[in-house]
Amino acid sequence: MADEPTLWISGHLAEKIRSHGSETYPHECCGALLGRDSEMESQDAVREVLGLFPLINRRDDSPRNRFSVTAEDVREAEKAARERGLEVIGWYHSHPDHPAQPSQYDRDHAWPWYSYIIVSVQNGAPQEMTSWRLNDDRREFSPEGIEIRHRAAV
Ligand SMILES: [Zn+2]
Repeated sequence: MADEPTLWISGHLAEKIRSHGSETYPHECCGALLGRDSEMESQDAVREVLGLFPLINRRDDSPRNRFSVTAEDVREAEKAARERGLEVIGWYHSHPDHPAQPSQYDRDHAWPWYSYIIVSVQNGAPQEMTSWRLNDDRREFSPEGIEIRHRAAV
């Protein structure tokens, strides 16, 4: 098996994702991960989150467990990333009162390549945070390690 990919994020930004999950509880929060992916350039390069772009969960029918990113969200997130010289490298959302495991719905609505961070929020308090990448055949998510890197956000 190939090495598990790793996503780098500062403690500050990880904390921001967690608090976004508390704020929107019992509804899901969601947002874009802005950063850089230099995996193509060298062997030991990493994918790193350098900023966040919080989104509004537009699913009025079931905001507790239905995170979805619209085409407009993607455009806005990409614009925000460009303005900061970054790119959209993934998406985050919360699982209120559910474990930080991707749901069937998540799998059906995910795209390959991106990193998907999920934070579990139990009774309003953020718990485990995980990250995932959809396999190229779109049938399964593979876990991605999260490394907290202590350095100033851009
Ligand atoms: Zn989910």
